[in-house]
Amino acid sequence: MRYLSTRGHPERRRFCEILLEGLAPDGGLYLPESYPQVDLATLARWRSVYQQQGYAHLAFEVLSLYIDDIPADDLRALCERTYTEAVFGTKAIVPVRELDSGVLIEALSNGPTLAFKDMAMQLLGHLFEYELKRRDEELNILGATSGDTGSAAEYAMRGKHGVRVFMTSPNGRMSPFQQAQMFSLQDANIHNLAIDGVFDDCQDIVKAVSNDLAFKRRYRIGTVNSINWARLLAQVVYYFAGYFQATQSDTQRVSFAVPSGNFGNVCAGHVARMMGLPIERLVVATNENDVLDEFFRTGVYRVRGSADTHETSSPSMDISKASNFERFVFDLVGRDTALTAELFGTRLSRDGMFDLSGDARFQQQCARYGFVSGRSTHAQRLQTIRETFERHGQMIDPHTADGLKVAREQLQAGVPMIVLETALPIKFAATLVEALGREPDRPPRFNGIEALPRRVQVLPAEVARVKAIIVEHCP
Ligand SMILES: *Cc1c(COP(=O)(O)O)cnc(C)c1O
Repeated sequence: MRYLSTRGHPERRRFCEILLEGLAPDGGLYLPESYPQVDLATLARWRSVYQQQGYAHLAFEVLSLYIDDIPADDLRALCERTYTEAVFGTKAIVPVRELDSGVLIEALSNGPTLAFKDMAMQLLGHLFEYELKRRDEELNILGATSGDTGSAAEYAMRGKHGVRVFMTSPNGRMSPFQQAQMFSLQDANIHNLAIDGVFDDCQDIVKAVSNDLAFKRRYRIGTVNSINWARLLAQVVYYFAGYFQATQSDTQRVSFAVPSGNFGNVCAGHVARMMGLPIERLVVATNENDVLDEFFRTGVYRVRGSADTHETSSPSMDISKASNFERFVFDLVGRDTALTAELFGTRLSRDGMFDLSGDARFQQQCARYGFVSGRSTHAQRLQTIRETFERHGQMIDPHTADGLKVAREQLQAGVPMIVLETALPIKFAATLVEALGREPDRPPRFNGIEALPRRVQVLPAEVARVKAIIVEHCP
């Protein structure tokens, strides 16, 4: 399997070459040259692999179609080390439960940080450690987080050889639970940097350090952001696992509803569908930051300025642009690299938007690829949380509530709708209290984490200070 850039760079790379990288050299995103096809016989075999051997073995089956530069035995061992009941809480790893007839919830949020980002990040931790050892190299991961990504990255990389994490976050602006989760980590290779400023300040620091190419090379700076292909690939697996739990036969069709921000999660659904998984609809659910909903309704993709980007009660979906979206548009326009480069390289930076409504492929292909969308507001989010608790006695988090709200608008008779649960309610307790007047349930292993000793440095928003800390910890 070789990987290409969505913007047409002639070079073709292998999986492990792009594993530790972000963008392609021309600014595009990496995608496989073609999607491996899963026929009915393979689907039937995978169903029994999942049911009889478990999620880790299913993950190996999917990943091995895309990774041919790690020996099969090693890859299988990495999958088995990653997807364990001890780490993800259940044998199913991503258990599906029925809410009411035809509406199911797939729990992707039982990993170490209680958000779906663990599904990919935990694998990434093992892949990074493996590949760095093989190359005899080290990597310093520098990131900016306002919550889920940073903690998932830290819990994936803690104690891993050859990797250090320097994670900036806006001082005092994450939820108390999220702060406790990150700052209580005592591992020597994890560095929490609380920056006096807002999330954009953190992101600016990361950009400034990464743009200093000499520093970046000297100190082997890397990232784990959502455009990483390995992360996206790991997420493809749970679409298959969800399908096998929701159906009895391999000819049945299902739909997925996906609370979306950077379009990484639902893009993995697109890849699963392109491989042949019988997905009827991919329902993109957004919050008030409705860049994606606007696109699927109108064909206009318009990135928002920071003044137009709202802070909402489903904060992990608060985006101004969707960083993985280029991958889907590349397929949408028939893998036309010149047009993708024009749209994302030129028009977006020049005009802040592009309009595909006049392109015949837009209507045709969105329908062909099964994409539909909707949005949910704060009031609707609270309403959905309340209704779900009253009718089903279940607490759901605000992101999942956005997904469920939009899912109900897109139901079709006879097609099960699987809503992806992307976080547990305890991470967003304040919104749950607002909706239900009571605290959400807390998994016992998190009792008292707010009182644990903390390992965090508070810094002014200065690039030089962050660089100095990286230098201090590198030989
Ligand atoms: C990251 C995140 C999302 C958005 O996922 P994307 O892949 O960026 O679309 C939704 N919900 C939660 C809880 C998240 O952490």
